[in-house]
Amino acid sequence: MASEPLFDKIALIGIGLIGSSLARVVRRENLARHIAIATRGETTLKRAEELGLGESYTTDFAEAVRDADLVVVSVPVGASGQVAEAIAPALKTGAIVTDVGSTKRSVIAQMAPHMPEGVHFIPGHPLAGTEKSGPDAGFASLFENRWCIFTPLQGTDPAALEKLSEFWRRCGSNIDTMDAGHHDMVLAIVSHLPHIIAYNIVGTADDLESVAKGEVIKYAASGFRDFTRLAASDPTMWRDVCLHNKDAILEMLARFSEDLAYLQRAIRWGDGDKLFDLFTRTRAVRRSIIEAGQEIDAPDFGRQALEHPPKPS
Ligand code: NAP
Repeated sequence: MASEPLFDKIALIGIGLIGSSLARVVRRENLARHIAIATRGETTLKRAEELGLGESYTTDFAEAVRDADLVVVSVPVGASGQVAEAIAPALKTGAIVTDVGSTKRSVIAQMAPHMPEGVHFIPGHPLAGTEKSGPDAGFASLFENRWCIFTPLQGTDPAALEKLSEFWRRCGSNIDTMDAGHHDMVLAIVSHLPHIIAYNIVGTADDLESVAKGEVIKYAASGFRDFTRLAASDPTMWRDVCLHNKDAILEMLARFSEDLAYLQRAIRWGDGDKLFDLFTRTRAVRRSIIEAGQEIDAPDFGRQALEHPPKPS
């Protein structure tokens, strides 16, 4: 028997991979009596309706948030400010407004100035995703055993933070809280840099004249394939991440370039010990990730589960 809904009305602004996964888990876990869906375009809205993701559907963001107790903004980070401006006049006093954006300092700078007195704005970021986008890509178990990080502003109401934490726990996530600047630095290394490296290596392979494109595709399983999954991620989302976490990404890229030069030198001078030591250290990092339950120790980089997510409910 499902527990009592946490909220009367939840408004989901943006109904792509993240928004539609939330809609599915909110329904499955009975977290709200009413799910209001809002998205920018008619085509996405129609698809969300066909999938039966909510109770009401609109392209008018303000209409969706009216009387909502929880508003979750799941749009590319560069659009956060416009969304905040559009919903602000319709937010009810006491409502919790959160987001799922992959960068936090920029989202806070864009959204916080629009938040009316009496509304609890709590920035968030679920560390869960795939390279797919749109309402068809979502699935209810996306957030299971994944971290959701909050970067609360000074003076955040502890009761509102606890209620939002409970919401994400019921979506299956573990909760962490940190400063927005620290979040952006951590995510630059664990998420943003790997995507940039993947985009770069796949771009380099695509530009090569000495190796035929057909060969790159044919022999991809040798390692290249694992980069192509990241490099297939949504261009709009990742353009915005790069533009909105510029400082932290540039700092990590500088470190990365130095370390790459060290590796290049070791290869040039035939320094096998240096190479062996690094490759041994990095192997241990993967073991720790598996031990922490954030990956499975299966062939094919454990991607089977993501490639065949449960059917939408
Ligand atoms: P998505 O599948 O591409 O969906 C994007 C949603 O935002 C759609 O509803 C789209 O509306 C709407 N949208 C796009 N541009 C907009 C604009 N300029 N103004 C208003 N709405 C706009 O994206 P997603 O993967 O769910 O990502 C959403 C957010 O989650 C991003 O901030 C991202 O950083 C964050 N995030 C993503 C992942 C991931 O792996 N994908 C993981 C964690 C966090 P229409 O389709 O109607 O145009």
